[in-house]
Amino acid sequence: MSNLDTITHFINGSKVDTLSGRYADVFNPALGEPVARVALGTAEEVDAAVKAAHAAFPAWSNTPALTRARVLFRYMQLCQEHTDEFAAMLTREHGKTFADAKGEVARGIEVVEFACGIPQLLKGEFTDQIARGIDAWAMRQPLGVVAGITPFNFPVMVPMWMFPIAIACGNTFVLKPSERDPSPSLLHARLLKEAGLPDGVFNVVQGDKVTVDAILDHPEIQAVSFVGSTPIAEYIYAKGSASGKRVQALGGAKNHMVVMPDADMEMAIDALMGAAYGSAGERCMAISVVAAVGDAGDKVIGALEQRTAALKVRDGMAADAEMGPVVTAAAKQRIERLIGEGVEQGAKLLVDGRGYQVEGRPNGFFVGGTLFDHVTQDMTIYKEEIFGPVLCVMRLPDIASAVELINANEYGNGVAVFTRDGGVAREFVRQIQVGMVGVNVPLPVPMAFNSFGGWKRSLFGDHHAYGPEGVRFYTRHKAVMQRWPNTASAGAEFAFPQMK
Ligand code: NAD
Repeated sequence: MSNLDTITHFINGSKVDTLSGRYADVFNPALGEPVARVALGTAEEVDAAVKAAHAAFPAWSNTPALTRARVLFRYMQLCQEHTDEFAAMLTREHGKTFADAKGEVARGIEVVEFACGIPQLLKGEFTDQIARGIDAWAMRQPLGVVAGITPFNFPVMVPMWMFPIAIACGNTFVLKPSERDPSPSLLHARLLKEAGLPDGVFNVVQGDKVTVDAILDHPEIQAVSFVGSTPIAEYIYAKGSASGKRVQALGGAKNHMVVMPDADMEMAIDALMGAAYGSAGERCMAISVVAAVGDAGDKVIGALEQRTAALKVRDGMAADAEMGPVVTAAAKQRIERLIGEGVEQGAKLLVDGRGYQVEGRPNGFFVGGTLFDHVTQDMTIYKEEIFGPVLCVMRLPDIASAVELINANEYGNGVAVFTRDGGVAREFVRQIQVGMVGVNVPLPVPMAFNSFGGWKRSLFGDHHAYGPEGVRFYTRHKAVMQRWPNTASAGAEFAFPQMK
């Protein structure tokens, strides 16, 4: 018997412990030790959650959109009041700094704010008199039970990309959070209940691959939203689509920042430090490659080296921490192995974050900021998503070769160009094969009222996440035509009617 607290499932308005006896340890990465254990669901728990969601669907989908929005307004206020509680959970189980964790909560709340406008967002289109005595309209209706499967790196915000919009649209929801940092999912559940959400509308099944497969196989689940790494995203998309579900699966990334020789170098260096090392590089929009054009590389490399070596890597709760640990011992090992491969393959290692020690935290999963120069396209550190605090500088002769490099990359999540030349920026924006583009903005993460998503192997499916795309994903279009018996019948028509 473990004496660690158990993070349970949440089904039909109540906490439910494992039915199968499966658990996994949840670590505090700064301490490097387990702080809780999480129940791991099987087909049985998934089925119980889906049954609860299915039973709740008729009443919830028939609740007026305005009434649904009012529940979300109350939930949004509760999230604001509980920001510090969410953030402390994030730092404890993910490792990111407390200040960064609060930012994550704020960005999630913005999606709830957007979803509160659902009466306006669900308004249909009406056309009077499409023929004599006939009107037509289009409306959008919820799908039924929908599921979300989310990654470790934004355990508060990424689920909030999904369920506020899904439930605002009238669906009921089953969330499968990451097993690495599962606690925030139960706080979401508690606050939604406190806000007045009926039991069964929002359920949580904790778990791993076994749980995910049970979701993909369940015939009553109409749609699956996934965010995580590319191989799993591709698997979810293929398996979910094959069983007739609507699927949006957002995958991994390798995000480049092009620095032109005319850029404001101070601005570019500040942007690179935050975008490469914030959250220890564990962001799907993190910049991991600098495509330095012409002499831009020479202009930035000295300051980058100095500032990377001086990064304040600490327990995320330390007030002056700029970067916390990475999420697991396995992640640390993998990142350190990749740094080694970079050296073996000939990249110039300017700052080495391997073997990093933090005072008072001897077992924490820390990797120091790492900087490579003269990285080339064939190296593993360029080809693989490292998902750690490692920045690779590449030297390129001109903007055309930077565009060619980025367009040839298998990922297409985010990209940025730093320049003072509007013409160069404009052409870059038009030519680049990437879903989210920043001009002198390193992390162009769309606001909640736009939509988020990458191109190429960074997204499988037709819809981006949240914003108007989220509303479309979680609803089906219905086209209606009506005529009333007070219009004269033209008699039986055997040919396609023609407008007179
Ligand atoms: P992951 O793919 O390992 O896990 C994501 C989810 O899938 C988790 O809930 C996990 O339990 C489940 N899972 C893991 N292995 C599985 C398997 N074999 N079969 C079925 N399900 C499985 O990702 P992660 O390590 O938690 O998160 C980091 C990754 O997520 C990075 O690649 C990052 O770029 C990506 N990410 C992408 C976005 C985006 O918007 N594109 C946002 C955040 C994170």
